[in-house]
Amino acid sequence: MSVPIVRTVRELRAEVSAWRRQGFRVGVVPTMGALHEGHLSLVRTALGRADRVIVTLFVNPKQFNNAADLAAYPRTEEADAGKLAPLGAHMLYAPDVAEMYPDGFSTTVSVSGVSEGLCGAFRPGHFDGMATVVTKLFLQTGSDLAFFGEKDLQQLHVVRRLARDLDIPIEIVACPTVREEDGLALSSRNVRLSTEHRLIAPRLAKILFATAGRLTEGASIDETLLEARNAILEAGYQQVEYLELRANEDLAPLSKLDRPGRLLVAAWLGGVRLIDNVPVAPAR
Ligand code: AMP
Repeated sequence: MSVPIVRTVRELRAEVSAWRRQGFRVGVVPTMGALHEGHLSLVRTALGRADRVIVTLFVNPKQFNNAADLAAYPRTEEADAGKLAPLGAHMLYAPDVAEMYPDGFSTTVSVSGVSEGLCGAFRPGHFDGMATVVTKLFLQTGSDLAFFGEKDLQQLHVVRRLARDLDIPIEIVACPTVREEDGLALSSRNVRLSTEHRLIAPRLAKILFATAGRLTEGASIDETLLEARNAILEAGYQQVEYLELRANEDLAPLSKLDRPGRLLVAAWLGGVRLIDNVPVAPAR
């Protein structure tokens, strides 16, 4: 059993047209590869909602604001294809950079508002690069449904916004974060953690969940977030880029926990930038 690999827009469109003639609903799962259980959970959800599922694999240079991060990004296409085949995914679309951005490529999709702050404040150009490639993937695949992980919550909101604003007829489906047994959110970057740092890494999620609980119990937001920041540093993380409470619905800043919230964090551990977020129930 293997998954067909498609590398050109032309081939992709021919296949999708054939599916459409048969009346199939098409779903897309955009990824940068190095597939783990988090990605595979998206694929399983997609297979439950669509008749044909395209997994895309493209390490998008435009969304890396850091050249070293791009160079170190794991590339494991053969293993990725091997993981997709038994699930029953129908296509792996893996274009090269020249196919996505041919000579003369000059367009950027830039979403204001929700892409500002949080990761947007620390990764200049990241969301423009991501929004540009995701828009291309939506238009290239002509999918009815697209599946994104809540692990990258700001990304999910940016994608929802661009689909709505550009009238792209696609339903964006949010999928819950998959975690290791010790709580660490699965990420393609986790393989870059040393053994020592891998042991420290899950403290981040533990602190997030504990902090969410305290906020729901009515603890002061400012004080609790400051304590949580310190706890992350004491656990061994070198830097906390941000730790913020936002509204769950639209990621608007939240100064009072009078509606469902979300606690979002980005922190550095041994040269690896990790992000995570957890829901926060309204204060009791
Ligand atoms: P990436 O390959 O990191 O660009 O991620 C591709 C998709 O997988 C995105 O929609 C991510 O949000 C999603 N994803 C990554 N990690 C996880 C996870 N631990 N749980 C659920 N979805 C995830």
